[in-house]
Amino acid sequence: MSLLYATHARVHLGNVCDNLRAIRAAVGPSRKVLIAVKANGYGHGAVEVSRMAEATGTAEWLGVATVPEGVQLREAGLRLPILKLGPTFPWEMRAAVEAGVTLAICSSEEADAAAEAARAAGRPASVHLKVDTGMGRVGVTQEEAPALALRLSALPGVELGGVFTHLPVSDAADPAWTREQISRFRAVASDVEEAAGRRLLVHCANSGAVLGHEPSWLDMVRPGIMIYGFRPDAETPATIPLKPAMSLLTRVSFLKRVAAGTSIGYGRTWIAPRDTFVATIPAGYADGFNRLFSNRGRVLIGGKSYPLVGRVCMDQSMVDLGEETDVAVGDEVVLMGRSGDAEIPCEEWAEKLGTITYEVTCQISPRVARVYDPY
Ligand SMILES: *Cc1c(COP(=O)(O)O)cnc(C)c1O
Repeated sequence: MSLLYATHARVHLGNVCDNLRAIRAAVGPSRKVLIAVKANGYGHGAVEVSRMAEATGTAEWLGVATVPEGVQLREAGLRLPILKLGPTFPWEMRAAVEAGVTLAICSSEEADAAAEAARAAGRPASVHLKVDTGMGRVGVTQEEAPALALRLSALPGVELGGVFTHLPVSDAADPAWTREQISRFRAVASDVEEAAGRRLLVHCANSGAVLGHEPSWLDMVRPGIMIYGFRPDAETPATIPLKPAMSLLTRVSFLKRVAAGTSIGYGRTWIAPRDTFVATIPAGYADGFNRLFSNRGRVLIGGKSYPLVGRVCMDQSMVDLGEETDVAVGDEVVLMGRSGDAEIPCEEWAEKLGTITYEVTCQISPRVARVYDPY
């Protein structure tokens, strides 16, 4: 598969495993770890990352965003419990219950639909109660949470196993707001447990909170971006060592010497200021090699950095190699990752593109084959 298309992402599963072991060393052996593998494991491959975690015992739960994501993991043979992190439409619930995907319940309507889906599926619906304590996105209000827990406990076929919330600023330098949110959530969670009449799995820690808020660790932590090797924000404390899990590679597909004054690419936005060698690479915005890199990006070849020139095309881009070169067609080109002593980190892409590492790895498109290093 990697032979068919030179542009490929190398996924260092051993680094994901090391990141998970580092998280485990921090949070201790008794807490559970849910890894967020939504959006195809932030672009890294949900099935392969989940299989590695299941085989090495480095995670106890998998977190997905959609029912098809949960079903895909089950069809791939994964047996760990799967939590769908957001609300579910009534018509999706039966498929989720049949796949053994735990639902996040955000309202009484959803609770009733889960009971109905359990009846239709002929098996219990496993659910966690989702409370909105400040994210302002989805979830039952703090005030209504105990009543909803009571209702869930009374519904036939519904098994309430957990209560959780989400933290909007756990990655920020100032910890005050999140500290207050965590203590509010702990109070709500204990009211919910009382209403349910039993202990539940209580959880709220995303990567920012795993790194910066020990009181948030509770019964389970839910790291996402950090398992792929990145802190959620440059401000987040670097309390746990992390190794990046993705490199993006291609090869020189064409090479030519052009005379000063020659224009390169669509729009003729770059004109060679001198006689120079220009390489073409088979990677473009359809691969997730963003068009905003036009005349701004760079690549590494043989440990040296070269600027992108002209506009990034859909499937190809051009690189200025300078007046003399020993680069040849077929040479490896690093778009993200290490080459010799040089590195283009994912954070550099994020900064140049005005976004976050999350979006960078998610946008590496399906055309780019993922090649997995052994772990
Ligand atoms: C995606 C997600 C996470 C993981 O967030 P990171 O910032 O990537 O660690 C945790 N909890 C919920 C509810 C999520 O949706």
